[in-house]
Amino acid sequence: MGSLLLMVTLLANTAPRPVLVTVSPAEAIQGQLLLIEVAGTEPGDEVTGSFGKHTLRFFRTARGQVRALTAVSLKHKPGPVALRVQVTLPGQDPIVHGRPVTVQAGQFEKQTLRVDSKFVRPPKKYRRQIRQERRALSRLWKAPATERQWRGSFIWPRRDKICSTFGLKRMFNKQLRSRHYGLDIDGKNGDPIVAMGAGRVVMVAERYYSGGTIVIDHGLKLFSLYFHLSAFEVKVGDRVERGQRIGLMGESGRATGPHLHLSNRVENISFDPLGLLNMDLTENQKEGTP
Ligand SMILES: [Zn+2]
Repeated sequence: MGSLLLMVTLLANTAPRPVLVTVSPAEAIQGQLLLIEVAGTEPGDEVTGSFGKHTLRFFRTARGQVRALTAVSLKHKPGPVALRVQVTLPGQDPIVHGRPVTVQAGQFEKQTLRVDSKFVRPPKKYRRQIRQERRALSRLWKAPATERQWRGSFIWPRRDKICSTFGLKRMFNKQLRSRHYGLDIDGKNGDPIVAMGAGRVVMVAERYYSGGTIVIDHGLKLFSLYFHLSAFEVKVGDRVERGQRIGLMGESGRATGPHLHLSNRVENISFDPLGLLNMDLTENQKEGTP
Protein backbone atom coordinates (compact mmCIF):
# COMPACT_ATOMS: atom_id res chain seq x y z
CA MET A 1 0.00 0.00 0.00
CA GLY A 2 1.54 3.32 -1.04
CA SER A 3 1.75 6.59 0.81
CA LEU A 4 1.82 10.18 -0.25
CA LEU A 5 4.81 12.08 1.04
CA LEU A 6 4.91 15.80 1.42
CA MET A 7 7.77 17.80 2.83
CA VAL A 8 8.23 21.28 4.20
CA THR A 9 11.18 22.78 5.99
CA LEU A 10 10.75 24.48 9.32
CA LEU A 11 13.30 27.06 10.28
CA ALA A 12 13.71 26.41 13.97
CA ASN A 13 16.21 28.87 15.42
CA THR A 14 18.66 28.74 12.54
CA ALA A 15 18.79 25.03 11.77
CA PRO A 16 16.32 23.89 9.10
CA ARG A 17 14.04 21.14 10.38
CA PRO A 18 12.34 18.96 7.76
CA VAL A 19 8.74 18.02 8.49
CA LEU A 20 7.19 15.20 6.53
CA VAL A 21 3.43 14.72 6.09
CA THR A 22 2.35 11.25 4.97
CA VAL A 23 -1.13 10.13 3.88
CA SER A 24 -1.78 6.41 3.75
CA PRO A 25 -3.13 4.64 1.88
CA ALA A 26 -2.24 7.00 -0.97
CA GLU A 27 -5.53 6.35 -2.77
CA ALA A 28 -8.34 8.10 -0.95
CA ILE A 29 -11.20 5.85 -2.04
CA GLN A 30 -14.82 6.39 -0.94
CA GLY A 31 -15.44 4.68 2.42
CA GLN A 32 -11.77 4.46 3.29
CA LEU A 33 -9.93 5.21 6.54
CA LEU A 34 -6.86 7.47 6.18
CA LEU A 35 -3.84 7.82 8.44
CA ILE A 36 -2.15 11.23 8.41
CA GLU A 37 1.35 11.16 9.92
CA VAL A 38 3.60 14.14 10.59
CA ALA A 39 7.28 13.30 11.07
CA GLY A 40 10.03 15.62 12.22
CA THR A 41 8.24 17.53 14.97
CA GLU A 42 9.38 17.94 18.57
CA PRO A 43 7.23 17.35 21.68
CA GLY A 44 6.77 21.12 22.19
CA ASP A 45 5.42 21.73 18.68
CA GLU A 46 1.72 22.17 18.19
CA VAL A 47 0.25 20.21 15.27
CA THR A 48 -3.27 20.95 14.01
CA GLY A 49 -5.02 20.42 10.70
CA SER A 50 -8.06 19.61 8.64
CA PHE A 51 -9.15 17.31 5.84
CA GLY A 52 -11.94 18.95 3.87
CA LYS A 53 -14.39 20.24 6.47
CA HIS A 54 -13.19 17.76 9.12
CA THR A 55 -10.78 18.60 11.93
CA LEU A 56 -7.71 16.37 12.23
CA ARG A 57 -7.28 15.24 15.84
CA PHE A 58 -3.54 14.69 16.12
CA PHE A 59 -2.07 12.56 18.90
CA ARG A 60 1.50 11.82 19.83
CA THR A 61 2.57 8.24 20.55
CA ALA A 62 5.12 7.28 23.23
CA ARG A 63 7.69 7.08 20.44
CA GLY A 64 6.89 10.63 19.32
CA GLN A 65 4.93 9.74 16.20
CA VAL A 66 2.30 12.39 15.43
CA ARG A 67 -0.78 10.85 13.87
CA ALA A 68 -4.43 11.51 13.06
CA LEU A 69 -7.13 9.23 11.68
CA THR A 70 -9.78 10.49 9.29
CA ALA A 71 -11.96 8.96 6.58
CA VAL A 72 -13.64 9.54 3.25
CA SER A 73 -17.40 9.17 3.32
CA LEU A 74 -18.94 6.47 1.13
CA LYS A 75 -21.00 9.18 -0.55
CA HIS A 76 -18.20 11.75 -0.96
CA LYS A 77 -18.10 12.79 -4.59
CA PRO A 78 -14.83 12.03 -6.40
CA GLY A 79 -12.43 14.96 -6.75
CA PRO A 80 -9.90 16.96 -4.75
CA VAL A 81 -10.18 17.53 -0.98
CA ALA A 82 -7.90 19.99 0.80
CA LEU A 83 -5.49 18.52 3.35
CA ARG A 84 -4.10 21.17 5.65
CA VAL A 85 -1.49 20.62 8.39
CA GLN A 86 -0.19 23.42 10.56
CA VAL A 87 2.92 23.03 12.71
CA THR A 88 3.70 25.71 15.28
CA LEU A 89 7.08 25.73 16.96
CA PRO A 90 7.20 27.44 20.36
CA GLY A 91 7.48 31.21 19.88
CA GLN A 92 7.30 31.11 16.09
CA ASP A 93 4.77 31.67 13.34
CA PRO A 94 2.91 28.56 12.21
CA ILE A 95 4.12 26.72 9.14
CA VAL A 96 1.13 25.78 7.01
CA HIS A 97 1.31 22.85 4.76
CA GLY A 98 -1.51 22.24 2.30
CA ARG A 99 -2.27 20.13 -0.71
CA PRO A 100 -5.24 18.46 -2.35
CA VAL A 101 -5.89 14.74 -1.91
CA THR A 102 -7.96 13.23 -4.73
CA VAL A 103 -11.00 11.19 -3.68
CA GLN A 104 -11.67 8.28 -6.00
CA ALA A 105 -14.91 6.41 -6.60
CA GLY A 106 -15.07 2.96 -5.00
CA GLN A 107 -16.40 -0.20 -6.65
CA PHE A 108 -19.36 -1.54 -4.70
CA GLU A 109 -21.34 -4.63 -5.65
CA LYS A 110 -25.08 -5.17 -5.44
CA GLN A 111 -26.65 -7.70 -3.09
CA THR A 112 -30.26 -8.85 -2.74
CA LEU A 113 -31.52 -10.19 0.59
CA ARG A 114 -34.73 -11.59 2.01
CA VAL A 115 -35.63 -10.61 5.56
CA ASP A 116 -38.78 -10.63 7.70
CA SER A 117 -41.12 -8.00 6.24
CA LYS A 118 -41.15 -6.17 9.61
CA PHE A 119 -37.58 -5.04 8.78
CA VAL A 120 -38.60 -3.62 5.42
CA ARG A 121 -41.72 -1.83 6.63
CA PRO A 122 -41.61 -1.63 10.45
CA PRO A 123 -45.05 -1.91 12.10
CA LYS A 124 -46.34 1.38 13.48
CA LYS A 125 -45.84 0.29 17.10
CA TYR A 126 -42.06 0.13 16.62
CA ARG A 127 -41.57 3.44 14.82
CA ARG A 128 -41.20 5.50 17.97
CA GLN A 129 -38.68 3.00 19.37
CA ILE A 130 -36.67 3.14 16.11
CA ARG A 131 -36.56 6.96 16.25
CA GLN A 132 -35.43 6.89 19.88
CA GLU A 133 -32.71 4.37 19.07
CA ARG A 134 -31.42 6.61 16.29
CA ARG A 135 -31.32 9.59 18.63
CA ALA A 136 -29.47 7.59 21.30
CA LEU A 137 -26.69 6.86 18.79
CA SER A 138 -26.49 10.50 17.65
CA ARG A 139 -26.00 11.52 21.27
CA LEU A 140 -22.98 9.20 21.51
CA TRP A 141 -21.35 10.73 18.42
CA LYS A 142 -21.71 14.18 19.98
CA ALA A 143 -19.91 13.34 23.23
CA PRO A 144 -16.80 11.31 22.40
CA ALA A 145 -13.92 10.77 24.82
CA THR A 146 -11.53 13.64 24.14
CA GLU A 147 -8.45 11.59 25.13
CA ARG A 148 -7.20 8.70 23.03
CA GLN A 149 -8.27 5.43 24.74
CA TRP A 150 -6.43 2.92 22.55
CA ARG A 151 -2.81 2.14 21.82
CA GLY A 152 -1.25 0.38 18.83
CA SER A 153 -3.02 -1.52 16.07
CA PHE A 154 -6.59 -2.84 16.15
CA ILE A 155 -7.50 -6.54 15.96
CA TRP A 156 -10.30 -8.66 14.51
CA PRO A 157 -13.22 -8.98 16.96
CA ARG A 158 -13.48 -12.51 15.61
CA ARG A 159 -11.28 -14.15 12.99
CA ASP A 160 -13.47 -15.80 10.39
CA LYS A 161 -14.42 -15.33 6.78
CA ILE A 162 -16.06 -12.13 5.58
CA CYS A 163 -19.62 -12.75 4.44
CA SER A 164 -20.46 -9.18 3.32
CA THR A 165 -18.13 -6.30 2.56
CA PHE A 166 -18.53 -2.61 3.36
CA GLY A 167 -20.48 -0.37 0.99
CA LEU A 168 -22.61 -3.05 -0.72
CA LYS A 169 -25.68 -1.70 -2.47
CA ARG A 170 -28.41 -3.74 -0.84
CA MET A 171 -31.96 -4.51 -1.82
CA PHE A 172 -34.19 -6.02 0.87
CA ASN A 173 -37.20 -8.07 -0.36
CA LYS A 174 -37.01 -6.25 -3.73
CA GLN A 175 -38.34 -3.13 -1.98
CA LEU A 176 -35.85 -1.37 0.27
CA ARG A 177 -32.59 0.01 -1.04
CA SER A 178 -29.76 0.74 1.40
CA ARG A 179 -26.00 0.71 1.72
CA HIS A 180 -24.07 -1.67 3.97
CA TYR A 181 -22.18 0.46 6.49
CA GLY A 182 -20.15 -2.37 7.99
CA LEU A 183 -18.27 -5.59 7.55
CA ASP A 184 -20.04 -8.92 8.19
CA ILE A 185 -17.92 -11.65 9.77
CA ASP A 186 -19.18 -15.23 9.68
CA GLY A 187 -19.55 -17.57 12.66
CA LYS A 188 -21.95 -19.50 14.88
CA ASN A 189 -24.34 -18.44 17.60
CA GLY A 190 -22.35 -18.14 20.83
CA ASP A 191 -18.92 -17.53 19.26
CA PRO A 192 -16.99 -15.10 21.49
CA ILE A 193 -16.54 -11.51 20.25
CA VAL A 194 -13.67 -9.36 21.51
CA ALA A 195 -13.02 -5.60 21.56
CA MET A 196 -10.94 -4.58 18.52
CA GLY A 197 -9.14 -1.97 20.59
CA ALA A 198 -9.15 -0.47 24.08
CA GLY A 199 -11.89 1.97 24.95
CA ARG A 200 -14.96 2.68 27.02
CA VAL A 201 -18.27 0.87 26.51
CA VAL A 202 -20.88 3.53 25.77
CA MET A 203 -23.84 1.42 24.62
CA VAL A 204 -25.13 -2.05 25.47
CA ALA A 205 -28.66 -2.41 24.11
CA GLU A 206 -31.22 -4.54 22.30
CA ARG A 207 -32.19 -2.56 19.23
CA TYR A 208 -34.75 -3.03 16.44
CA TYR A 209 -32.47 -3.33 13.40
CA SER A 210 -29.05 -4.06 14.91
CA GLY A 211 -30.30 -6.47 17.62
CA GLY A 212 -27.87 -7.01 20.52
CA THR A 213 -25.60 -3.98 20.14
CA ILE A 214 -22.37 -2.85 21.80
CA VAL A 215 -20.63 0.46 21.04
CA ILE A 216 -17.07 1.19 22.18
CA ASP A 217 -15.70 4.75 22.28
CA HIS A 218 -11.96 4.65 21.49
CA GLY A 219 -11.58 8.41 21.93
CA LEU A 220 -10.82 11.18 19.41
CA LYS A 221 -14.15 10.46 17.64
CA LEU A 222 -13.24 6.87 16.77
CA PHE A 223 -15.90 4.25 17.60
CA SER A 224 -16.49 0.54 16.97
CA LEU A 225 -19.97 -1.02 16.83
CA TYR A 226 -20.84 -4.72 17.19
CA PHE A 227 -24.31 -5.86 16.00
CA HIS A 228 -26.64 -8.90 16.20
CA LEU A 229 -25.08 -10.24 19.44
CA SER A 230 -26.84 -12.99 21.44
CA ALA A 231 -25.29 -12.08 24.83
CA PHE A 232 -23.41 -9.22 26.49
CA GLU A 233 -20.39 -9.59 28.78
CA VAL A 234 -19.83 -5.88 29.47
CA LYS A 235 -21.93 -2.97 30.66
CA VAL A 236 -22.05 0.74 29.90
CA GLY A 237 -19.13 2.54 31.54
CA ASP A 238 -16.76 -0.43 31.50
CA ARG A 239 -13.21 0.16 30.35
CA VAL A 240 -12.22 -2.66 27.96
CA GLU A 241 -8.81 -3.69 26.70
CA ARG A 242 -7.96 -4.82 23.18
CA GLY A 243 -8.90 -8.49 22.83
CA GLN A 244 -11.17 -8.52 25.89
CA ARG A 245 -14.38 -10.53 25.47
CA ILE A 246 -17.43 -8.30 25.21
CA GLY A 247 -20.23 -10.65 24.10
CA LEU A 248 -21.36 -13.57 21.96
CA MET A 249 -22.25 -13.77 18.29
CA GLY A 250 -25.91 -14.05 17.37
CA GLU A 251 -28.52 -13.27 14.74
CA SER A 252 -30.70 -10.75 16.57
CA GLY A 253 -32.31 -7.81 14.73
CA ARG A 254 -32.28 -7.62 10.93
CA ALA A 255 -29.94 -10.53 10.25
CA THR A 256 -30.22 -13.36 7.74
CA GLY A 257 -28.22 -15.76 9.97
CA PRO A 258 -25.57 -15.79 12.71
CA HIS A 259 -22.79 -13.28 12.01
CA LEU A 260 -21.10 -10.24 13.49
CA HIS A 261 -21.74 -6.92 11.81
CA LEU A 262 -18.81 -4.65 12.63
CA SER A 263 -18.97 -0.92 11.98
CA ASN A 264 -16.45 1.85 12.56
CA ARG A 265 -16.79 5.62 12.63
CA VAL A 266 -14.32 8.45 12.84
CA GLU A 267 -15.20 12.14 12.67
CA ASN A 268 -18.84 11.04 12.16
CA ILE A 269 -17.91 9.16 8.99
CA SER A 270 -18.61 5.41 8.64
CA PHE A 271 -15.66 3.75 6.98
CA ASP A 272 -14.63 0.23 5.93
CA PRO A 273 -13.43 -1.63 9.08
CA LEU A 274 -10.93 -3.55 6.92
CA GLY A 275 -8.96 -0.29 6.65
CA LEU A 276 -8.55 -0.20 10.42
CA LEU A 277 -7.90 -3.95 10.75
CA ASN A 278 -5.14 -3.76 8.11
CA MET A 279 -3.59 -0.50 9.32
CA ASP A 280 -0.24 -0.75 11.11
CA LEU A 281 -0.52 1.55 14.12
CA THR A 282 2.37 -0.06 16.04
CA GLU A 283 3.89 2.33 18.56
CA ASN A 284 7.05 0.63 19.75
CA GLN A 285 9.48 -2.11 18.77
CA LYS A 286 8.28 -4.57 21.40
CA GLU A 287 4.72 -4.63 20.16
CA GLY A 288 4.35 -6.96 17.20
CA THR A 289 1.50 -6.65 14.73
CA PRO A 290 -1.35 -8.40 16.51
ZN1 LIG B 1 -23.84 -6.19 8.20
